[in-house]
Amino acid sequence: MSSAVHIHPSVDDGIPPAAPDFSGGTLSCLCTSNPVTVEIKGQVAHNHVCGCTKCWKPAGSLFSQVAVAPRENVRVVANGDKLQPVDTSAAIVRHACRECGVHMYGRIENTAHPFYGLDFVHTERSKERGWAPPSFAAFVSSIIESGARPENMSAVRARLNEIGLPPYDCLSPPLMDAISIHIAKAKGVL
Ligand SMILES: [Zn+2]
Ligand SMILES: [Zn+2]
Repeated sequence: MSSAVHIHPSVDDGIPPAAPDFSGGTLSCLCTSNPVTVEIKGQVAHNHVCGCTKCWKPAGSLFSQVAVAPRENVRVVANGDKLQPVDTSAAIVRHACRECGVHMYGRIENTAHPFYGLDFVHTERSKERGWAPPSFAAFVSSIIESGARPENMSAVRARLNEIGLPPYDCLSPPLMDAISIHIAKAKGVL
């Protein structure tokens, strides 16, 4: 299924399925020597494409592809000295390779945050096949902030629907519910 609209290299030519009993894999940055290497134990969850301006995107891509894993399952195993935080004031502190720019993991340090305990990772940086595939598109309108043409937005949303990634302009309804449930519990109304 080819299209004039390119979303992300991992989804443009069909979305590969998850492997049953997938045991995890290793992410590498783009450096040809001494790449930063991050090991992820087990499967990821909530994989999606994201249009926000904070997530790392491959060159020329409209969207990033990003998933979460429990932070205790994410471990830097090589060349971690090349990592530096992108923005320590952000809710998700992304740790990027200072040579090639790839974000190797994003971590939430605020224990009150609804997604505390989950790290954000880009499974496309792994050679292993069988990661949970993306299932929706988040922050679609935000691609305009990265230079996407507003007049192309209906074509982008149509393409996302066509490949099975329902487009949302925030997170997906289950994740927005999870955030509100966390806040409601913290306030004592739930
Ligand atoms: Zn690198
Ligand atoms: Zn994002």
